[in-house]
Amino acid sequence: MKKEVIIIGNGIAGVTLAVLLQRKGISFVLLHREGEKEPFALGETLPPSAMPLLEQLKLLSLFEENAYRKTYGYHSMWGSSRVTDINFYHQNPYKNGLKINKHQTLEKMRDLIRDDMVSYSKGFEIIHEEHGNTVVLAKNEGVKIVQGKILIDATGRNRAVLQKLKVESTIYDELVSLSCHIPKIEHPKLTHEVYVESFKQGWGIVSALNETENICTIFTQKGHAILQKLKDVSQWKSVLSETIYLKDFLNEDAQIKFKGGNANSSVAAQIAGNNWLALGDTAMSFDPLSSHGITNSIYTASNASEAIEKKLNFADTEAFPEYDETMKTIFQQYVQSKNKLYQQETRWKEEAFWKPFFE
Ligand SMILES: Cc1cc2nc3c(=O)[nH]c(=O)nc-3n(C[C@H](O)[C@H](O)[C@H](O)COP(=O)(O)OP(=O)(O)OC[C@H]3O[C@@H](n4cnc5c(N)ncnc54)[C@H](O)[C@@H]3O)c2cc1C
Repeated sequence: MKKEVIIIGNGIAGVTLAVLLQRKGISFVLLHREGEKEPFALGETLPPSAMPLLEQLKLLSLFEENAYRKTYGYHSMWGSSRVTDINFYHQNPYKNGLKINKHQTLEKMRDLIRDDMVSYSKGFEIIHEEHGNTVVLAKNEGVKIVQGKILIDATGRNRAVLQKLKVESTIYDELVSLSCHIPKIEHPKLTHEVYVESFKQGWGIVSALNETENICTIFTQKGHAILQKLKDVSQWKSVLSETIYLKDFLNEDAQIKFKGGNANSSVAAQIAGNNWLALGDTAMSFDPLSSHGITNSIYTASNASEAIEKKLNFADTEAFPEYDETMKTIFQQYVQSKNKLYQQETRWKEEAFWKPFFE
């Protein structure tokens, strides 16, 4: 199989790029692992600032139609024990964000490109020439061989292609997350359905996932003592008993399923090569406090589609280096604003979780 572009990774970044390349008439194949299960819903929130990007890419109605709901603001208790009410009413031009149903949204987007999706069951190998074509061996019962001019890593934090290309990444912190779905309760003191609260060992967020469930995620540091205690969900309420409102959402049901993972900030040492690009979390992964991971995935996919078009159709040799530079600049700006946000929480400066932000 010969295609202009080979995309590896089936998440929001890879699928968005595929949809945009299809519109440009650039041939591609999206390689993905066979039999991937529906992932644990994180109920990601898109801020109002993401809406113009979706509109520009003619994806807004698809996202709106498949979202759990619109969001109009959030509450946070960060830096003091006072609740701050952030209302999107003052945002322009959109006065709402979206609580997305990522799986459903992705399935609708995949429907547009299914004919160009190829699954594999036993891993893949890459034969890559920096100034030539790339061959990917997608291992199945019968090996599938795909040849392309441009290779895309959209495998999220796994960076599966970059690892094979021996491109390293810089990790900025050790943030990890634990998420669980809990029965929905409406808090008497909070009007918005998204609430963030910091505490001595980290911070947590609770938000309405749908009509019956809330999702709660606790963020702390890899190796922190609290992680051991949080391994039993029925203990979350007592372990987090010093929180002001967060604890009110938790219950002591031991049957509740939870999922953990990395949530740290990191950036690839190289985001583009001569004939490859990294997208989304693979290029740079953001702290969920920023609420910008999905926006970043869509933005990098959009920029990558432009760069690919310039390179293939106009032999523009600057397009990929410019992509690399733009993304690295964005990441540096992001790191600065993220650090400022954490530095606003001064109550536990000496505690293991918060100390690194003040050193
Ligand atoms: C707890 C938590 C809360 C978050 N909340 C928000 C939020 O509120 N708002 C927001 O905007 N962002 C949020 N994010 C971030 C957001 O989820 C990610 O930034 C976004 O999903 C990244 O998309 P992606 O396509 O780059 O990567 P992914 O979604 O990770 O997709 C990568 C794809 O590649 C596949 N893959 C991986 N390895 C391989 C391999 N070896 N071979 C083939 N395929 C592979 C995976 O199966 C997956 O389909 C949150 C993240 C976490 C952890």
